Amino acid sequence: MNWNALEAIHDTALVQAVRLRVLSGASPQIDMTNFIGPDHAAEHVSALFEALVANDVLEKQVITLCPRCTHALEETDLRQGLCPSCELDFAETGDTPVEQVVFLVTDVERSREIPWLIAIHGFNTHGEWQENFSWLLATRFKHRAPALMHKFPFLSWGVLLRWKHQQLAGKLDQRLRAAMERARESGIDEPPDIIAHSFGSLLFARLLDRPESADLKFGRVILAGAIVRPDYDWSAHVRAGRIDAVLNHCSAKDFVVNWAQWFIPDSGPSGRVGFNDPKVLNYRESDFDHGTHFEPEIMVGSLQDDGLWDRFFSLPKSSLEQCIISYHPRTRWHAAPSVLTKTTRGLTTVVVALLAVLALITILTGAYVMLVHIV
Ligand SMILES: [Zn+2]
Repeated sequence: MNWNALEAIHDTALVQAVRLRVLSGASPQIDMTNFIGPDHAAEHVSALFEALVANDVLEKQVITLCPRCTHALEETDLRQGLCPSCELDFAETGDTPVEQVVFLVTDVERSREIPWLIAIHGFNTHGEWQENFSWLLATRFKHRAPALMHKFPFLSWGVLLRWKHQQLAGKLDQRLRAAMERARESGIDEPPDIIAHSFGSLLFARLLDRPESADLKFGRVILAGAIVRPDYDWSAHVRAGRIDAVLNHCSAKDFVVNWAQWFIPDSGPSGRVGFNDPKVLNYRESDFDHGTHFEPEIMVGSLQDDGLWDRFFSLPKSSLEQCIISYHPRTRWHAAPSVLTKTTRGLTTVVVALLAVLALITILTGAYVMLVHIV
């Protein structure tokens, strides 16, 4: 079905709303009147539905309803002149059954249920959003498994060092394995979906790259405020069956991610510029900053019915590209010259080490002075 051709003839917003509903894989019967409103007159909606019938996307059926209780009447009910639901006798009361036109979606993949979920966070945050997050997701899960929250101290010296990343990816591996084992014990065999933020996105990529973690599989992956290199090869992991699909929820105004490559090895500003990999859906906001995704109101919007995250998690895979319009970076990203990034990282490490030594000296001196006073 060429939906873009329909947009040339019908109202774009209307076509997109109906397309989303058709491809969502929700109930096959679509009520045309839901789309009629101040913005879309009945005749325009009707014209679009007729075009979809002509293109075999929808099937038009006329059903007969009881005028009192709107029960759908079968042929035999009509012959007997009796509603089996409310026992209305048409001959006795003089009521006549009502005809209604309905549209059925032909042959669409069923929508996906969110199995269970792991959130990998870039920094220690506290408070309200975590409660909102767990509560919201609990209403969305297929299984009654809690959302697992895994947090890293983003503002720690460890982010500067490559070997420390490997160590943290190893810890993440252990935590995920334990969670998957518990899920299996509860009869949940599906791999978890993932939401990874900031430094969490980088560690998730490091985990996928580890040969020791090659047996770990995941469902759909949402990256927010990502600092993975924009030329990272996600396709390889999709092809290998390690992950199902990737949504990069990025923003033109996430300037924090610009700094990543100057301080964090093997990182880059994918949370702002998007990924070059054609398998990744880059959804680019115009005004989010690095943490906007997790502000309570925004997060509720993303996870509620038809919100961006909800759509990405629940749409059939074949409909993802059509329903979430991806931003394609116009130019290929190139890392800053490594001689420069290595220098800033080296200098930062030296400064951090000096500060640590200074702090240690202060503590030791303080202890010495106290000891002298006591003696
Ligand atoms: Zn009835």
